[in-house]
Amino acid sequence: MQLVLASGNSGKIREFKQLLGDKIVAFSELMESFEIVEDGDSFSENALIKARAIYERLGEGFIVISDDSGISVPLLGYIPGIYSARYAGVNATAKDNLYKLIEALKERGIKQTPAHYTAAIAVVGNKQMEYVVHGWMYGDVIDKAIGDKGFGYDPMFIPEGYDKTLAELGDEVKIDMSHRTKALELAEPIIQMLQRRQ
Ligand code: IMP
Repeated sequence: MQLVLASGNSGKIREFKQLLGDKIVAFSELMESFEIVEDGDSFSENALIKARAIYERLGEGFIVISDDSGISVPLLGYIPGIYSARYAGVNATAKDNLYKLIEALKERGIKQTPAHYTAAIAVVGNKQMEYVVHGWMYGDVIDKAIGDKGFGYDPMFIPEGYDKTLAELGDEVKIDMSHRTKALELAEPIIQMLQRRQ
């Protein structure tokens, strides 16, 4: 059973490969990418939409894993949440999204406020075998971008227990406590169960 990651996001691919090693290949390494409309109302719905779409293209013999994730700021009404990847528009870059959230804090005079990342990981083995698990990472967002490691909103996110942003701390620190790592720990027994099938 080949494990396939339903993502073209290079930051996510790098993190999944660090966690699962050579066991997983990115969907973009197997076929041309195609548009998947993520029109669900929650992280879990969107994760399932992505994993199902890729599974339908690949079929039997594959286990497809997808991650739908984002950052939520309670003081701003939990935005950008499921819209994290397109917060500054459908063709927005990661930097556009980052600076839009920084601006949203600045407009309200907020220098630092609690925030959390959510990751929903869907695992699809066939139509009767679809599972979703979640993980969270808590911390604060600040009104500036510091550091050049990580991706997405990492330059403005200070994880709980630290005084530096994830983009300063880097992958080694992040991998130990990230929303994706926590969700993947819950996904592992599901993946093992699917791999045991004949
Ligand atoms: P998705 O690919 O539709 O799930 O979009 C996820 C978006 O959430 C990414 O484009 C990032 O903007 C943000 N995001 C999710 N996880 C992380 C993370 O670990 N660091 C920084 N940004 C993240």
